[in-house]
Amino acid sequence: MRKIPPLHISLFASACASLLLAACSHAPTTPAAAPAPSTVVVPAEVSTAPSTVILVSVDGLRATTIGTGVMPTVDAIAASGVHAAWLTPSYPTQTFPNHYTLVTGLRPDHHGIVHNHMRDAVLGNFVSKGTSALDGRWWGGEPIWVTLQKQGGIAATMFWPGSEAEIAGQRPRYYMTYNKQMPANARVDKVLAWLDLPAAQRPGLVTLYFENYDVAAHATGADSEESINALKTVDVALARLRDGLHSRGLDASTDLIVVSDHGMITVRSEDVRYLDDLVPANSIQVIHTGPLAGLNPKRGHVQQVEKVLLGRHDHYECWRKQDLPARWQYGHNPRVPAILCQADPGWRVVMHGMPESTQRSGEHSYAPEAPEMRATFVATGPDFIDGTQLPAFDNVEVYPLLARLLHITPAANDGSVDPLLPALRDASP
Ligand code: AMP
Ligand code: ZN
Ligand code: ZN
Repeated sequence: MRKIPPLHISLFASACASLLLAACSHAPTTPAAAPAPSTVVVPAEVSTAPSTVILVSVDGLRATTIGTGVMPTVDAIAASGVHAAWLTPSYPTQTFPNHYTLVTGLRPDHHGIVHNHMRDAVLGNFVSKGTSALDGRWWGGEPIWVTLQKQGGIAATMFWPGSEAEIAGQRPRYYMTYNKQMPANARVDKVLAWLDLPAAQRPGLVTLYFENYDVAAHATGADSEESINALKTVDVALARLRDGLHSRGLDASTDLIVVSDHGMITVRSEDVRYLDDLVPANSIQVIHTGPLAGLNPKRGHVQQVEKVLLGRHDHYECWRKQDLPARWQYGHNPRVPAILCQADPGWRVVMHGMPESTQRSGEHSYAPEAPEMRATFVATGPDFIDGTQLPAFDNVEVYPLLARLLHITPAANDGSVDPLLPALRDASP
């Protein structure tokens, strides 16, 4: 269930703590009263507050890639900074649901982006790569850029699912229309250009997103040469980012966090099962297929479809949405179809006549507890204790972490910063 975390200390309050000013003991901690990080004047010698938090996502980056040498820049952050054993994705292990969980701290059931492909009784169809994703009515909760800007800060998004939609009345001050063709290095240069803005316009939070690995892995497999090259391309861009921060003297005032949304697994075209081998195609409305199939039995066919589909099958299992395993915390949102069929790692549940769903060589959308779905968390910067190895934690904890690093009060969310406290210099409750 959703829980509301305790209010976090504002920048003003933490600056007061640093200065040990008794007069600050009544420092405001309400969202409306919290001052903008970039406008608070704190003497440099006593300030511990970073001026920037950069959140990077490498789509599909498996936890097991870290430390293998494929991504030396990410490896270096992991070795010298903070490294979690892994980041457990939320269900379903898809790009849009998990990216939005990372920036809201809400499970997909709670923020409403329950799948890359959804159907809503009022809004119609949602397609992650379509214009529907620009409609703010799909996006519930409060992304970190809104939380920051409501409290006086400035946010910039170099791509992130949800960043182009107006949510809770606003967009990031700086955002980009998603363009898959924009080279990784150019994305980094845009981030650095934002950091070069005059102080009053400079963002305190920047997101940066790379799809290179996800795209290559779907097309050619999780460990193909193309996929490894995609990881290397992203790593070169991250090296450029670190160099850019260093040459600007920003290392000491920038928290850099690298995460992923889910992992990746190589699949074989023959490892598929067909829903319409069990039920007539015209008895179901199929919302999505693949590692996770979702469908609604058509009127008059509910009993027949449920009788045949519900339960364990060869390499997959189907449930009524309300009966899904409780650990997945999923299935109560009206946008989730009535029946879900989750394939075992490596398998897919599809329909005859939908060849595109079996042509991929790499997949995610498997159960979050599958080791191959484990996502990545590494971080470095002034707020982190160097050389900290953390046990795995859930990706709902990232939003409360970001709020803490930004010295703002988080909106209600499903996470807690507690699992991160051993890695933070200021671990005060
Ligand atoms: P999927 O593999 O279906 O979960 O979706 C991942 C793909 O979504 C990536 O390869 C990107 O091409 C695409 N994508 C990522 N971010 C965005 C965005 N902000 N807008 C549109 N498409 C995106
Ligand atoms: Zn993804
Ligand atoms: Zn993908």
